[in-house]
Amino acid sequence: MTTIASNLQAVRAAIMAAATEAGRTSGEVTLLAVSKTFAPDAIREAYHAGQVHFAESYVQEALSKIAALHDLPIEWHFIGPIQSNKTRAIAEHFAWVHSVDRLKIAERLSAQRPAHLPPLQICLQVNISEELSKGGVPSGEVAQLAMKVARLPHLDLRGLMAIPAPSDDVSAQRAAFARLRELRDQLCRQGLRLDTLSMGMSHDFAAAITEGATMVRVGTAIFGKRPLHNY
Ligand SMILES: *Cc1c(COP(=O)(O)O)cnc(C)c1O
Repeated sequence: MTTIASNLQAVRAAIMAAATEAGRTSGEVTLLAVSKTFAPDAIREAYHAGQVHFAESYVQEALSKIAALHDLPIEWHFIGPIQSNKTRAIAEHFAWVHSVDRLKIAERLSAQRPAHLPPLQICLQVNISEELSKGGVPSGEVAQLAMKVARLPHLDLRGLMAIPAPSDDVSAQRAAFARLRELRDQLCRQGLRLDTLSMGMSHDFAAAITEGATMVRVGTAIFGKRPLHNY
């Protein structure tokens, strides 16, 4: 077995263990392989080991990989910061976007989504740890943004995403993920149908699953340490 295939097997086993311990099934948790900085060959290898969902953070890099891998029926997720001049490429080439944090970006993605494609699946990125430097809408402004995004015609608002401040303390990890879950539950009580919590990375996906993650975004634990320069 290749390193990527055995890493994937280990990550899947850890997802299963965390889900079981939380009284959930592993079928409730979708694994996104975060392939940013890794070459198409690594993605191909993961695909042949059964991985279907891949996530990218940089538009230019992603477009060249999507072209190189067009023969594979991969579901592409965009998880990086979004500049206005990149929305068209994202709307045309991805199935999901997890990092929407402004109405203007959502409006552009909706307007630019090609008519022959299904609605773009959207998560709103929430600045759950209230870090000044990080992207994401502040918790107090999520509801207002969500109500507006939910009305856009070519988007399907599925849920919330967060990248909490990194911590080695499992209870701190869980507290941040619980806040995102509570925000999602609040929006559901206000009438939105949100089934997705995109939370948890290599170092904290088990805690995220304990708190209800439905998508975990795992890079390093599958592909290894990222190179300093992209492929
Ligand atoms: C890079 C990245 C990940 C994956 O992080 P790892 O620690 O390598 O698992 C997850 N989510 C986002 C938004 C990222 O940018």
